[in-house]
Amino acid sequence: MAVFSMRDFDGHEQIIFASDPETGLRAIIAIHDTSRGPALGGCRMWDYASEDLAVEDALRLSRGMTYKNALADLPFGGGKSVIIGNARTAKTPGLMAAMGRAVDRLAGRYIIAEDVGTSVDDMAVIRGVTRHVAGLRDGSGDPSPATARGVFVGIKAAVQHRLRRNSLDGLRVSVQGLGHVGWELCRQLAAEGARLSVSDIRTEAVERAVVSFGATPVEAERIFDVDADVFAPCALGAVIDDGTLPRLRAAIVAGSANNQLAEARHGAELARRGILYAPDFVINGGGVINISHEAGANGYDRAAAFAHVDRIHDILLDIFKRADAEGVPTNLAADRIAEERFRPSGIS
Ligand code: NAD
Repeated sequence: MAVFSMRDFDGHEQIIFASDPETGLRAIIAIHDTSRGPALGGCRMWDYASEDLAVEDALRLSRGMTYKNALADLPFGGGKSVIIGNARTAKTPGLMAAMGRAVDRLAGRYIIAEDVGTSVDDMAVIRGVTRHVAGLRDGSGDPSPATARGVFVGIKAAVQHRLRRNSLDGLRVSVQGLGHVGWELCRQLAAEGARLSVSDIRTEAVERAVVSFGATPVEAERIFDVDADVFAPCALGAVIDDGTLPRLRAAIVAGSANNQLAEARHGAELARRGILYAPDFVINGGGVINISHEAGANGYDRAAAFAHVDRIHDILLDIFKRADAEGVPTNLAADRIAEERFRPSGIS
């Protein structure tokens, strides 16, 4: 495995291969950059088809956290961990405790939190063996309301910049995915008078949104064709691709889903078509901002955490202005701003 030449290696500070034969733990902890503070990032448990894919995923996610944390202006660097295995069949308290011991050996250089395949209950087990853990039930709790709040203020910023409007009253928003984040986002948008079109593969969620928010139901496949001001992807990644891009009729793409662009070049293509894209790793930063307040020195204070989440509004405005000034797509402008914050010397 040629780790140093992998695409997302990108100067990773440290990569740890942790194992515990007794519990079957095989994990990778990737620490990309700690120049802003300890690396903060979730722990993913996934049945990777190969060890190479697990390493690749850890590096990609860890590097992404450096950018995300820097843009959210957090005193934390970027890191991520992956446990190789099926979260439904191979996860045991013993395995999670072994993971916690691996984290503890790093003495605070990496702070673990939940991600796909791990839960608040797993973090509680880890808390039994290390204090370098965040996202506990009696701490910041479920990150989704904070994420939804960040997307909500992010949509406001995008509407202000692209449509020169301060009010959401009558704004047409199409929302893909009515899960934890999408539902809460719809609630906030509807409360400010937005007109919603919604899709989900769970038809009962769509029916509830029709009743609760007066939303217009849309078949899952047709959500890209809706004539809306804002398209908010809150379900899957890679939804902006060569097939969906020409179908979009919205002036703005702003939602919570991770990795919305199938490829970075799709960011340029959105810009070319005059569609303002709110980079996903900025607009969906509310969850990590919320968790970071638990990991900080002063303990968790919900009001302070949510006030910080609201700063996503101004962070996005800065990105939009920079993109305009430099004539680059917003995803690239965001990358540049992040890099100035964790690589102030410009060395890469
Ligand atoms: P969730 O699993 O609660 O909700 C996802 C919803 O999307 C479900 O209702 C699902 O039925 C629906 N869905 C799946 N495929 C669909 C399709 N083809 N068309 C329409 N709907 C579809 O997840 P969530 O926590 O609400 O997160 C939503 C997205 O935001 C994910 O991409 C997640 O990675 C990202 N995100 C979430 C958080 C958070 O705090 N929860 C933070 C950052 C990013």
